[in-house]
Amino acid sequence: MKKYVYSFGGGTADGNIKMKEILGGKGAGLADMSSAGLPVPPGFTISTEVCTLFFENNRQVPADVAKQTREGIAILEKQMGQKLGDPKNPLLLSVRSGAKFSMPGMMNTILNLGMNDATAAGLAEKSGNARFAYDCYRRFIQMFGQVALNIEMEHFDHIYDTRKAKKKTKNDTDLTAEDLQAIIADYKKLVLKETKKPFPQDPMVQLEMSRDAVFSSWWNPKAAYYRKMEKIPDEIGTGATVQAMVFGNMSDASGSGVGFTRDPGTGEKVFYGEYLLNAQGEDVVAGIRTPEPISKLKTMMPEVYSQLVEITSNLEKHYRDMQDFEFTIEEGKLYMLQTRNGKRTGPAAVRLAVEMVEEGLISKEEAVMRVAPAQLDQLLHPVFDAASLKTLTLLGAGIEASPGAAVGRAAFSAEDAVAMKAKSSAPVVLVRKETTPDDIHGMDVAKGILTAVGGKSSHAAVVARGMGRPCIVGASVINIDEKGKKFTVNVGGKTVTVKEGDYISINGTDGKIYLGEAKTTDPDPNSGHFATLLKWADEFRGHFGVRANADIPRDAKVARAFGAEGIGLCRTEHMFFAEDRIKIVQEMILATDEKGRRKALKALLPMQRKDFAGLFEAMEGFPVVIRTLDPPLHEFLPKRENLMVDVAKLPYVDAKEKKRMAAEYGFAVKDLKKALPALLRRVEELHEFNPMLGHRGCRLGITYPEITEMQAQAIFEAAVQVTKKGKKILPEIMIPLIGSVKELEHQRKIVVDVATAVLAKAGMPDMKYMVGTMIEIPRAAMTAELVAKEAEFFSFGTNDLTQTTMGLSRDDYTKFSKHYEDIKVFQADPFAVLDREGVGRVIEYAVKAGRSTRPDLEIGICGEHGGEPSSVEFCYMIGMDYVSCSPYRVPIARLAAAQAALSKGDKSEAMRTA
Ligand code: ADP
Ligand code: MG
Ligand code: MG
Repeated sequence: MKKYVYSFGGGTADGNIKMKEILGGKGAGLADMSSAGLPVPPGFTISTEVCTLFFENNRQVPADVAKQTREGIAILEKQMGQKLGDPKNPLLLSVRSGAKFSMPGMMNTILNLGMNDATAAGLAEKSGNARFAYDCYRRFIQMFGQVALNIEMEHFDHIYDTRKAKKKTKNDTDLTAEDLQAIIADYKKLVLKETKKPFPQDPMVQLEMSRDAVFSSWWNPKAAYYRKMEKIPDEIGTGATVQAMVFGNMSDASGSGVGFTRDPGTGEKVFYGEYLLNAQGEDVVAGIRTPEPISKLKTMMPEVYSQLVEITSNLEKHYRDMQDFEFTIEEGKLYMLQTRNGKRTGPAAVRLAVEMVEEGLISKEEAVMRVAPAQLDQLLHPVFDAASLKTLTLLGAGIEASPGAAVGRAAFSAEDAVAMKAKSSAPVVLVRKETTPDDIHGMDVAKGILTAVGGKSSHAAVVARGMGRPCIVGASVINIDEKGKKFTVNVGGKTVTVKEGDYISINGTDGKIYLGEAKTTDPDPNSGHFATLLKWADEFRGHFGVRANADIPRDAKVARAFGAEGIGLCRTEHMFFAEDRIKIVQEMILATDEKGRRKALKALLPMQRKDFAGLFEAMEGFPVVIRTLDPPLHEFLPKRENLMVDVAKLPYVDAKEKKRMAAEYGFAVKDLKKALPALLRRVEELHEFNPMLGHRGCRLGITYPEITEMQAQAIFEAAVQVTKKGKKILPEIMIPLIGSVKELEHQRKIVVDVATAVLAKAGMPDMKYMVGTMIEIPRAAMTAELVAKEAEFFSFGTNDLTQTTMGLSRDDYTKFSKHYEDIKVFQADPFAVLDREGVGRVIEYAVKAGRSTRPDLEIGICGEHGGEPSSVEFCYMIGMDYVSCSPYRVPIARLAAAQAALSKGDKSEAMRTA
């Protein structure tokens, strides 16, 4: 018989931590802690495989599961000396979810299972604590009703709150046994009304329904969304762990709590957590009562506290990672309910990895492998500029829950946040009383999250840290009116109102909330733990280079600071588009003959020369790849539609309007009559049906060789200038969008002729430079062995190469990308994550073919994929020499490259769970 049920408890277990796949993380962790002799309530885990079978067989589990469950219950009853449904001494259970990858709070849990009319009365008598017994019963009906019977939470809340109002109290603990019995009676009526059936009294029926409800919660919309966001596969399913209850709600000598062995927000080595006395676990995270910091437990229950510290620090040593744990104290006795490697922010991930190396707990390699490259993003983002904060109104402070600065317009519901983002790209900060897992889509689009209630382990805090969003919780200074879409704060006796759309600035690092839009400043990438980790990463990365895409000296300087070893792509059209040049560029385009064009180009030459000199200086000692002009010419001209309207209007408009036109198109007013129609004619001539596949790239340089000539002259004159200052440079001139080696041959000759002349004149005939090409058309890739005859380097322009290989325009794909990715036509957006299966094979072919002609061919990538971890890994694996990405992604690429080097391509798990 196939084993579906795995018991744990009493110092042994059928499973262990290596069985996360079968038992889920929670089940495997409980089994492991049990075997280690830690105080864990016994139980058993129904395997994740049953979950998969459940969905395959129309929500039925295999017959053997029922049998093995009964056996599991029998073992449990023996261990506990209690029986399920026995009124004299009832066994009570929790049914808990847990998949291979942790999905905190996304699925369901049911507590106090086994309560019914008879066991409630029996438990009241046996414990001599009727309040406790009925509290367990009402909790069970409520959780079961909500999770297994799909009754709206509000209905239960309404009954419960009405009773509290009657008692004129806000505290759950003020309700007496009689109050709770009355609540239970109303709850049962509610169940009958909503389900047309009485509340099930048979514990085995309760158990089966709870198990199925836990499995079903795998497809909760929030769970499905979370998996998509975290790239957790849908097929793996959840386990269901059935465990004997321990009671944090028995008395004031009891309680429940959660904690971390280090601060998950900063990574600092401090014991971190919170708890509530006389409460069950869900009270701690629900945000209804604000929990106490764990340091207080030290004075309240010193022995329990030191036992908890000892157990959890041993767990950290054993698993060699920061632990996120859950515990319950029943009448002064400590029980461990869960442990797992804790989620952490980017800054915390970096700090604790580095400190664990310093403590001798892990190796440098492990530290480098443990930080997900994408997480570094959080360390690369700006912090508030102190001077600009002084100009804003400080509204108050809450509890700092996830570090970082966020500025945005206030949104008061997840739906509003999403809608506001859809309408405008301006950032949004989500402001809520508290968040629930249903808010996840709103949190996802928000730059930051602010809540009025809840502690450091409230839902908002946990999820925000996971997402790396700055977050403040428990900001009791704000009076929030979610329906009215506003909050008010008392600032020095005056009421300040913040409405939907108003800008606020929140600092998740110190908890402060400001009215207005703060300025931000860039972080320093060359200090602290961050610099240490990246230094180690560079040791493992070896010869594989990381360059940056940068068009102007300022970006080049940022890139250097982030560790870029050169420029992999400088787009010269960005220089053409600059404010002071566009008129000259237009003049060149409008010129009817070569002479006219050359005149305009001559005016552009000194400007380009200055730009290139700046880049060479910023990148001293490193290579700089400069691409010749790429975009279609009409991009430099006014829009055809606007121009048509203005030409038609011209005879009828007044002086003021004429002045506007003159300014806009750069003609004198008196010339408008002749110049405007001429301009329109040229725009029409240049109009293309499909500019993406039109007259652009090297095709421009071939039809107007003087453009390439001027650019080459600017590059080499700049090179001479900078070299004369004693600086070492290496220019690489890149010809874009070639499909045939003939195109490259043509352009290369122009560049080499200009270079030879300029360098001879300067007396530097031996200056080293390279001419190569961008591979972005499949034909170039498939004829790479020919292309390599003329190219000293290849750089894969994967934005265009993806478009041209897939026949899919990037801008149009966004219109249906969601559908395509939802039904998994594509596993991921091919413009974000390199499509290894298709585009990747084209690249791989070109790498091999190119090197067969020219073994020392330098090969890199300069598409946006160059800063995406999985794509970097691919580039490493197929033997490229470097990747190039935007300056802010350089550290991410450095780390991703080191991970690729260390794992040789087998690190998907680390990338997901770290
Ligand atoms: P999640 O995955 O959402 O954290 P859990 O299964 O861990 O859900 O359950 C949530 C909380 O329920 C736990 O933190 C704990 O406080 C409480 N709980 C679960 N099982 C038990 C149990 N056997 N005894 C007492 N409390 C429990
Ligand atoms: Mg838990
Ligand atoms: Mg291109």
